[in-house]
Amino acid sequence: MTPDNIYLKDAVKIIKDEQCPECDHEIKFIDSDGVDWETWACTNCSAIYEVTIEITRHWDTAVELKGTT
Ligand SMILES: [Zn+2]
Repeated sequence: MTPDNIYLKDAVKIIKDEQCPECDHEIKFIDSDGVDWETWACTNCSAIYEVTIEITRHWDTAVELKGTT
């Protein structure tokens, strides 16, 4: 299990075009647990957002790996 982020959670925000909903500046990727969430921060006002992510596994195009190169 991954511990929750250390941040307090505020209201749900809708983010469009990777822009901060507070000030419309660009947000940048900070961190992720690689499975469930990412955190992004505004480059202007330092607001931090947690974003739920979903991994898609393309089993139909899996490739068997053999030996070493
Ligand atoms: Zn902002």
